[in-house]
Order: sequence, then C-alpha cells, then structure tokens
Amino acid sequence: MKFGFHISIAGGLRTVVPRAKKLKCSTIQLFTRSPRSWRLKALDKQNVHDFKMMLKKSDISPVFVHTPYLLNLASCDALLFKKSINALVADLQRSNEMGVPYVIMHCGSAENAAQGIRMMAKGINTALNKAQNTVVLLLENTAGGGNELGYRFDQLADIIVRVKQVKRIGVVLDTAHLFAAGYDLRTRTSVNTILQEFDSVVGLDKLHLVHLNDSKTACGSRSDRHWHIGKGKIGKGLAHVVNHPLLRHLPLIMETPRKNDKDDLRNLRAAKRFVKKMATKGS
Ligand SMILES: [Zn+2]
Ligand SMILES: [Zn+2]
Repeated sequence: MKFGFHISIAGGLRTVVPRAKKLKCSTIQLFTRSPRSWRLKALDKQNVHDFKMMLKKSDISPVFVHTPYLLNLASCDALLFKKSINALVADLQRSNEMGVPYVIMHCGSAENAAQGIRMMAKGINTALNKAQNTVVLLLENTAGGGNELGYRFDQLADIIVRVKQVKRIGVVLDTAHLFAAGYDLRTRTSVNTILQEFDSVVGLDKLHLVHLNDSKTACGSRSDRHWHIGKGKIGKGLAHVVNHPLLRHLPLIMETPRKNDKDDLRNLRAAKRFVKKMATKGS
C-alpha cells in the first residue's frame, strides 16, 4: 500500500525527494510554487533535473502536483476565470516538465451551481487544449462550504461528462471533505454504499488518488478542517477506507496538520496500524 504526504518545496525542487524519504513516503504531492499567490517564475532547470534524477532512483511513485488555492474555474468574474485557466495551464506544463503525471485542482465555487459547472468544464477544456501533453487533471471533491462546487458526486460527474479529453480527467477523493460534505465514513456498510454511489455516478475508473485525512468537524458540517489520522470525528472509520478492496490499489496521501516531521511520522504509523488491524482480523 502506498502512503505519502504533501511535501514542501522550500529550498527548491531538489529538496523534495530527500524530504519525502525522511517521511517514508512511497507517493507524494507538492506545489510547484506558492499556493497563495498568482506569482509565477519559471522552474529552475537544474532543480528540475536533480528532482527527476532523485525521483528515478527512489521508489516514490506516482507524484501529484496540487494547483494553488486561488484558482476558481467556476467564477463568472472574467478576469479571475482567465487567471485561473492560465495558472492551470502553467501547472499542467510544469508537471509535464517535471515528469509528473497528475495535477490536482479543487472544484471552484459559484453562486449559480449549474452555471459554475459549465464554466468549470469550459475552463478545463481550454486549459487541456493549451497544455498539449498527457498530464491528467484530477478534480478534488470539496467539503461544500460557502458556494463550493464538487461536494456531491453528481456535480463531479456533471463537470467530467463535459470534458472532451476523457483520458485526461479524473478524481481525487478527500476523506475529510467527504465527511464534512455529509458522506459518513464511520461504518463499513456506509463506506460500501458511498463507493457504490461514486461508481454509478462518476465511475471508480476515474478515481486515481485518496487524500487520507481525518476531520476535526462533524459529518455534514460543510467545514473543511483536516485532523490527525484516527484522532478526529472519522476516527477508526478511516480503517474501512484504507482496507477497502476497491481502494487498496490507490495511493493514499495525507494532508494532516504538521508542526514537524514527528507529526507526519505519527500519522503514517496510525494509518499503517489500520492496515495491520484489519489484516489480522482476516477481513
Ligand atoms: Zn485534499
Ligand atoms: Zn481540505
């Protein structure tokens, strides 16, 4: 089973793989720039080269790039829409340059959901056409706070059916977001039902990654607060996710709170403990 974390790029891309190894990652996610700024400078060629070499020699795979938080492809503000497309194109191109197969983007937000969904699809189609490569865009489900789209499976499906390059669109499910959006992950029966629903509405073949996060907030709270594995409101429920036969082949990346490496290593142990527990029960 592949576990990993979101890894900081502080100090340049060449610092990523050593940092990931220290955290015992077998899969990773990273930003290619500051997640809270539109500012973009070209990637340093030497850093990209070093990153790729170190990655090749490691057993870390796959790698995921996460777009900045500012993007909103569902926006009816023409300037924000355009800036969001440009930022997405840049990350698709940078990922290609880095040899990274996936880019993750949160669904945007819009007052008018139907219109927002159409805008998102339009923006995604434009961006995929501009960045002519094979990098796959993964839409991340949201907690559904404010006017956020993509907190329900039918909304993800409504965006995806409109995307023309079908092989370049997929989904990442975040467990904290699912839970906050009202998908109760606390029992095996309910996890089964949720995955059945996802399969019939979106299709499990579209799911490429799970963001494994516990939630500090209640089921259905629509509030996105990640928490330490097993210590939040989902708690042991995450064991049903980690061990689910339909999810076992997927990479699991944690975006849990961290003050230092110890926090990550503790969360990794907690996640791995869930695997063992189920295995010894013979299920
Ligand atoms: Zn996430
Ligand atoms: Zn989140």
